[in-house]
Amino acid sequence: MNCVAALADLLSFLMSKKNTFLDSVSQYFDLAASHSKVSPGILTQIKSCNSVCEFKFPVLQDDGEIEVLTGFRAEHSHHRLPTKGGLRFSRHVTHDETVALATLMTWKCAIVSVPFGGAKGGVCINPKTASPGFRERVVRRYTSELIKKNFIGPSIDVPAPDYGTGEQEMGWIADTYKAFNSDGLNAYACVTGKPLSLHGIEGRTEATGLGVYFGIKEYADREDIVKPLGLSRGIAGKRVIVQGLGNVGFHAAKFLQEMGDAIIVGIAEFEGGISNPDGLDIEEVSAHRRGTGSILDFPGAKNHTNSSELLEADCDILIPAALENQITGKNAPDIQAKIIAEAANGPINAEANRILLSRDKLIIPDVFLNAGGVTVSYFEWLKNLSHVGFERMTTGYESQSNERILSTIEDMTGRKADAEQRALFTAGASEQDIVRAALDESMSSAAHSIEKTRVDNKLPDLRTAAFCHAIEKVSKTYIDLGIFP
Ligand code: NAD
Repeated sequence: MNCVAALADLLSFLMSKKNTFLDSVSQYFDLAASHSKVSPGILTQIKSCNSVCEFKFPVLQDDGEIEVLTGFRAEHSHHRLPTKGGLRFSRHVTHDETVALATLMTWKCAIVSVPFGGAKGGVCINPKTASPGFRERVVRRYTSELIKKNFIGPSIDVPAPDYGTGEQEMGWIADTYKAFNSDGLNAYACVTGKPLSLHGIEGRTEATGLGVYFGIKEYADREDIVKPLGLSRGIAGKRVIVQGLGNVGFHAAKFLQEMGDAIIVGIAEFEGGISNPDGLDIEEVSAHRRGTGSILDFPGAKNHTNSSELLEADCDILIPAALENQITGKNAPDIQAKIIAEAANGPINAEANRILLSRDKLIIPDVFLNAGGVTVSYFEWLKNLSHVGFERMTTGYESQSNERILSTIEDMTGRKADAEQRALFTAGASEQDIVRAALDESMSSAAHSIEKTRVDNKLPDLRTAAFCHAIEKVSKTYIDLGIFP
């Protein structure tokens, strides 16, 4: 290799190092920190990851052989306890990825006023090929490793679902933890995203996707934001492309379609992509995938063997909801969407972020947009600690109170409500109603706080404003704790 080629090789190696997920998160922090009034010492403290645990553990495979797996749990910030963050199953889980995700969790919790520090966990396995039996053995062994290391507990660190895991895995975590803490009254609060039968909460499964819908709506409804993008107000009629039809992508698309009247024109998945300018029914695509094992060959849709080309296709709103680093310096110049709504964590790297902003795109950042999951996880944790569902103490009273109001209105007007109107008016709120309304309120209030920070500090974009807002909040807690007198 000649000198020039070697130099180019070194340069490209260094560039690839600079564009890792952790590096992007670090760059976002540094930029926002430079706009904040927080002192350098505190900034150094709140930027660094407090504890990371990396460990190997043996698990019996289905064929009787032993496989040694690598697991991680990172607790980014202990300024509030417990720490909170998902458990990821992926072949690509690494130390740095786990730290990057835990870091985002700290800022995310601060943005939606959830009183937790950030954490994240991961195990290097392929979630698509692992059998249910193998997954259960992995989860139970991983949980017992966390217990031994004091990295799990209702007041210590509380996992939740993330990429490659769901409520079944959370149920196994709860059961394993409970087995080790049999008299622990609050043991089930050691994990959220559990099945309802194991003290989960109505609305957690769809919470992240619903939060994505509420978050997009906050900005799509604002004339001053969408007009410069060449868009009309509102979600109705907007053409949407979604990458990743998992928990977050499916629910985000479902609510955008059902509650917002958006048109889902493209879906990109692992196995390929599909598009239809007239719209794809998200429930039907999902049923087709369950039936055939693939989204491809969906009736009336065009197949795309290279699904990443859909990221660059013409649409109004692009929703990357799969994994990090999907939009990089390579494809950012070709992105046609006007709004990029980060449902996944870190789907846009720092280089792409700069390119997209210079092209006047609106980026709704992950630290805000996908915070619905942790928000409802917080509600589940509260429910577990109080040992009573939110609706249990309110539904009856509300119903009786509404009945009294309706009767008074009927007496005053001389008109009687029909049975359907009566049922609608007098029904007390269910757990799902309460959770959804509180989630909507949390996303709305977070969007307003971010906007206030953006305007007050004359910040260039939503991500910088969101980070700046979170940095100010977390540093204030450190100061109030008296760690930095
Ligand atoms: P999931 O495992 O349910 O779904 C992910 C989907 O993405 C899968 O269907 C997978 O096949 C698909 N996918 C993977 N690589 C792809 C690619 N290159 N192109 C297209 N599709 C691809 O995971 P999830 O829980 O929906 O998480 C998705 C993202 O959202 C992750 O970044 C996660 O960290 C983030 N997130 C999840 C939650 C949650 O509550 N689950 C909360 C906040 C953030």
